[in-house]
Amino acid sequence: MVMKAISAPRLFDGEQYRYDAALVWKDGHIHAVMPISELPKDIEHQHYDEGVIAPGFIDIQVNGGGDVMFNNDISSSAIETICQAHRKYGTAYLLPTLISSTPEKIAKALSTAEQAVNEKIAGMLGVHIEGPWLNEAKKGAHDATLFYSPTVDDLSQFPWPHNAKVLITAATEKMSLEALRYLQQVGAIISCGHSNATVEQLSNDKLAEVNGFTHLFNAMSPFEGREPGVVGTALNSDHAWCSIITDGIHVHPNSFLLAHRAKPQGKLLIVTDAMATVGSKTNRFELDGQIIEVIDNKLVNAEGSLAGAHIGMDQSVANVIRWGIEESEALKMASTYPALAMKANDLGKLASGYRAAATVLNANYQTQAVLVDGKLY
Ligand SMILES: [Zn+2]
Repeated sequence: MVMKAISAPRLFDGEQYRYDAALVWKDGHIHAVMPISELPKDIEHQHYDEGVIAPGFIDIQVNGGGDVMFNNDISSSAIETICQAHRKYGTAYLLPTLISSTPEKIAKALSTAEQAVNEKIAGMLGVHIEGPWLNEAKKGAHDATLFYSPTVDDLSQFPWPHNAKVLITAATEKMSLEALRYLQQVGAIISCGHSNATVEQLSNDKLAEVNGFTHLFNAMSPFEGREPGVVGTALNSDHAWCSIITDGIHVHPNSFLLAHRAKPQGKLLIVTDAMATVGSKTNRFELDGQIIEVIDNKLVNAEGSLAGAHIGMDQSVANVIRWGIEESEALKMASTYPALAMKANDLGKLASGYRAAATVLNANYQTQAVLVDGKLY
């Protein structure tokens, strides 16, 4: 395969900025980052006059896009549509996310995820199973009639993938220690969410099995002086990452900034929690029989509960920069940190040997192009 390159006035490689630099790749992997002036004469080269090239954005919580909800269509082609819709907003890779569903559909989501990764669907990294092992008191827009506490035997029935990443959001107070350990054993990454746990219920034994916390502040017991709840425990657990929705609706900018101060660097990462309306012309869809629609930029169900977000990654990054986060840190929160959280060792940086994945933003942080496994979109 031939070498190809993209270049821009600025390139952020995940650690530092390079100026007038080009990203060169071959066979789906990065060959080098080099000065534009040193590019071979005959190389296929696309130059962007403005903006920045960053490591490809990774969104670990995407319920839908391009008019498709993963819950309503668990198939490779639906995953392809969702990945395509989110590429317009800078997302190179994502985890299609199954909102609480039946064991049959969870099994289908797991096997479909493995199939989609094996089929090399561009942008497909793995699957996020968000429930139904959740706490009814923090159900959000989930259908609580589907919730249960799985035994190890229940969990052993599922077709756990080998090549697709698996992220599980569970309320740890609804899970036995054995069940959590089993999920770790099959290679799943565990995130505590939709949880009403007290600090005591989040015992050290259980916390040791928890890799992260899902959409910090939303659908979890709040931080209070006498009871730190899930929020306080999440902020205080240095080993665990926290994902956070930065649409400015789910979390107040000041709460976001406080979380950013509390977490060690690298442990706070951006997710969209996007729904079918992202990259679509319609502003409503159905989920488990309920109609969800965009009203004043908020996605709400009939009860008025927030039901996911109507935002892409590029806008989420632009927001946190506007709120006072440095550009380099904001870019890492959308690429380097989620790559670490997903143990995707060949993503999150622009360096030789990494997968050829990049997001090219303009001066206003809108997406100009996305590179996925060596293909430029
Ligand atoms: Zn949720």
